[in-house]
Amino acid sequence: MNKGSKLTGISVVSGWGAGKAYFVGRAVQQASAVTISRQEVGNEVIRFGEIREQAKKDYRQLIEEMGDRAPLDTSILNIYEHILDDPAFIGQVVETITTRLYDLESSIRIVSDDFIKRFESAGTSYFKERCSDMVEVCEKLVSYLYQDNGRARSFIEPVVLVVLRTFTPTDILAYDKSKIEAVVTTSGGKTSHAAILARSYSIPVISGVRNLKEYIHPGDQLLVDATNSTVYIRPSASVLGKYKRSEGVEQQLAHLKKKWCRPVYTKDGVKIDVLANISLPDDVDEAVEHGADGIGLVRTEYLLSNRKEMPSEDVHYAYYKEILAKSNGKPCVIRLMDIGGDKIPQFFEMPSEFNPFMGWRAIRIFLERKDIFATQIRAILKAGEGYNYSIMVPMVTTLQEWLAAKEIIGNIAAEMGLSMPKCGVLFEVPLSILEMNTFMKEIDFASIGTNDLIQYLSAADRNNSKVNYLYNPVEPAFLRIIRSAFRTANDNGMPLSICGEMAGNPSHTALLIGLGLRKFSVMPRNIPLIKELIANISLAEASESISHIDAIETTEAMTKWLKNINKRLLGDALTKLPSTDALL
Ligand code: PEP
Ligand code: MG
Repeated sequence: MNKGSKLTGISVVSGWGAGKAYFVGRAVQQASAVTISRQEVGNEVIRFGEIREQAKKDYRQLIEEMGDRAPLDTSILNIYEHILDDPAFIGQVVETITTRLYDLESSIRIVSDDFIKRFESAGTSYFKERCSDMVEVCEKLVSYLYQDNGRARSFIEPVVLVVLRTFTPTDILAYDKSKIEAVVTTSGGKTSHAAILARSYSIPVISGVRNLKEYIHPGDQLLVDATNSTVYIRPSASVLGKYKRSEGVEQQLAHLKKKWCRPVYTKDGVKIDVLANISLPDDVDEAVEHGADGIGLVRTEYLLSNRKEMPSEDVHYAYYKEILAKSNGKPCVIRLMDIGGDKIPQFFEMPSEFNPFMGWRAIRIFLERKDIFATQIRAILKAGEGYNYSIMVPMVTTLQEWLAAKEIIGNIAAEMGLSMPKCGVLFEVPLSILEMNTFMKEIDFASIGTNDLIQYLSAADRNNSKVNYLYNPVEPAFLRIIRSAFRTANDNGMPLSICGEMAGNPSHTALLIGLGLRKFSVMPRNIPLIKELIANISLAEASESISHIDAIETTEAMTKWLKNINKRLLGDALTKLPSTDALL
């Protein structure tokens, strides 16, 4: 592809960024090689031998497991083993380490790349097929180098991650986030967990881009304008010149951040809480800086990222303790690990599932694998002593499940001689939210997880950009369900928050206030924006406006109505908000 070429896709997280293409997943890349000292050579060579043996063992095990069932051609696995034992491959990697002083990963990648080029130029289809085998073996070997205690790998220069499959949270967490300028991926929806994470770290993402591998090569300079869904490959100076960080926007954001360190009230004096969704202890600093009234959701499963094994109770404890200590006495809702779906820890033995989001996930795993959750619960209870915290359980479908989960938590607390913490349900499965009334006597608080709730109600996978048009938070039937949930909660005096992405979208703020929301939980960066809007809304007017939604039947009519309502309730406050996109 020529200089100045571009590809298009779907904007998943807006903004823009520029850097060298770094392929994640099934591809060899060599954006920047890492050098080592002479003293490190011996260790790198030994390590190479170890990971080759490990890879062969894993492939052999796979062949044995498949046995007669062999859904996959086992001869392919034999080819992988053959490559791992190939004296030419081994010799070249060792030579690259010892003479060029590159680290093990760089050496494996350089040599694999070299093999691939030779296979490609051989011309026959047999050799062309060997290219993908080489990629597999290379990625397999490199993967062993990063299975350690949650360390993220770093880059020397800014990169754009190119993901040749569905984008997953690990694609971000495995790397130093400060160097990731943008992500370009073949698949992944706006509320996929990976997109949520990217958004919270201000990493622009474009999804649904086809033929990535054909047009982009490792190390290519890319400019990703996710706001306009365009990826520029080796952009010209004139294209690059159009993009620069806008100081005006930064200043406005800084001003709002300072202004909203305080609580917010609607124009007619009703206090609204705006809390933060976080994943890691460092995120709490960002939440506090942005004026969070507490932490409304800790996605604790991110503690498991980049690990070889389930963290011990001590590791869990240190994680909660740090989060709670940083929260400055404000409330903190700790959600039990939401494992499953698109969040499967590397070490966790998951049965293969046709439909992972409908499968073994969260509370369903909890009730079966009480051992691993008991470790988590003990650590939370211990770390939580003296703090204002509560426990939330994800993916609850039935009251029975919830009662069983609550009993386990209660028993652990009793064994430890500690009092039962406040426990609540994350309503994100249609059955539970439609039956919310029956939960009321048994819970201390509730939150709505709109990300999953929308995907389950609309049967539109949140990870699939192809069906994103159906995944719509302003669908009339969905809004009526939300309104009814708020009525139920209100009638029972039950605190009810929303911690899905919907709550963090400024164009939904007035709508949600009208529907009855008094507690938002959003990504930290958006807290000042949401508070600024709330201060411009009259609760009485917002509630009055909502009384009309029953008459609205179509998605289009609801979208139009929402635009009008935003104008009427917010004046120009919404359009005046600083855009976080830095495109001039
Ligand atoms: C949700 O589903 O809305 C939610 C908050 O949980 P998660 O995005 O982690 O699935
Ligand atoms: Mg969820």
